[in-house]
Amino acid sequence: MINYLLTNYKLLGVDIMDCPRCDVELVTKEINGVNVDYCTKGSGVFLHQGELKKITHPTAGDVEFSSLEHLDLSRVSDVKCPICTNSSMIEVNFVEYSDIVIKYCPECSGIWLDKGALELINKEIDNMNVSKEGWRHSIACFFAKCPF
Ligand SMILES: [Zn+2]
Ligand SMILES: [Zn+2]
Repeated sequence: MINYLLTNYKLLGVDIMDCPRCDVELVTKEINGVNVDYCTKGSGVFLHQGELKKITHPTAGDVEFSSLEHLDLSRVSDVKCPICTNSSMIEVNFVEYSDIVIKYCPECSGIWLDKGALELINKEIDNMNVSKEGWRHSIACFFAKCPF
């Protein structure tokens, strides 16, 4: 009966996704005003295309695009996409040079973040913003002959 209902929900277009790591369904969770699919057991998050930059701290440039620009399809991860269940997700380093690994589905462009990845990403963005501000400050000081 439960299976029957779930099948019908799927037919109605209601997203019911299983966590690619745990044996539970993902639930809707709001982050920064965006409804994402969240695992209550393992704290992983599934994001549709374009959602990463909406839920992370703001910065100049597109963090999603700069991460995926140098996609290496040979870096197959152990995570299967919760939407395209036959498709293995690809490991990608956030903004290429960071050591934060996110998972990307080449089929639907979805992104999987394991527990803690979002916090690390926000920290990385904060650092990026600070060093950019620092750089601007030094240049401005150079021209204005700041004493510091
Ligand atoms: Zn999970
Ligand atoms: Zn997918």
